[in-house]
Amino acid sequence: IIEVSNLKKSFGAAEVLKDISFNVNKNEVIAIIGPSGSGKSTMLRSLVQLEKIDGGSIAVDGDYLVKDGVYPSQQETKRITSRMGMVFQHFNLFPHLTVKENLELAPKIVKKEASEGLKNRTEELLGKIGLAGHVNSYPAKLSGGQKQRVAIARALMMDPAILLFDEPTSALDPELTGEVLQVMKKLAEEHMTMLVVTHEMGFAREVADRVIFMDNGEIIESGPPSEIFANPRNERTKAFLTRSF
Ligand code: ATP
Ligand code: MG
Repeated sequence: IIEVSNLKKSFGAAEVLKDISFNVNKNEVIAIIGPSGSGKSTMLRSLVQLEKIDGGSIAVDGDYLVKDGVYPSQQETKRITSRMGMVFQHFNLFPHLTVKENLELAPKIVKKEASEGLKNRTEELLGKIGLAGHVNSYPAKLSGGQKQRVAIARALMMDPAILLFDEPTSALDPELTGEVLQVMKKLAEEHMTMLVVTHEMGFAREVADRVIFMDNGEIIESGPPSEIFANPRNERTKAFLTRSF
């Protein structure tokens, strides 16, 4: 579904992504792990066009979002980017909009869908994340875990080909991480394609099909969790995992 090749990104003199290549296959759950500052967020942000890359290519469903560092028209870029749903660490819900309005905003603006047609989907997704009773609540009334579940439902409203998560539970109190991970696990069981940057090694081990370890702007190694966690080949992976458990 996503093909990334030779992705490069610098901030000034700092080379943050050095030569990143990987694929995400349909129905696959990939966990990205690695130390702070290794470029995980920059990589996800580059995929959804929150950062412009300096070189390399990104293709989504066979269409180039950027090819050899060259972007197509803005309209084409938007069209391809809208196939990806992103969930952020700090939820990024609109505080002045209700849960329902948060969910329906993007489909209305981007896909020009009418309220009537969205109603069923809104209800279905709120039911799925266990927040059917909060359709008219404002985000300030919700716990962090509830906010993050709403953010996941909002991303799903666009019917994305893939969901990207950037440390979705890092801003939550420990007792609230479980309910968010539970929703993500359910999505994985339904074969949603997901790329998840996470510090939750238990989740990575249990739910991911593949784990990618990044350090210092590079992919150091990747493989099934059973291999990466039980038998890491690279010294840097070993050192990181020793610190993380
Ligand atoms: P963390 O685990 O702490 O979230 P990360 O792996 O997500 O770390 P990034 O946020 O991608 O790391 O940052 C990679 C490097 O790029 C860091 O050295 C960071 O300081 C730098 N960086 C990120 N965004 C910017 C920016 N907008 N301007 C300048 N430097 C940046
Ligand atoms: Mg980050």
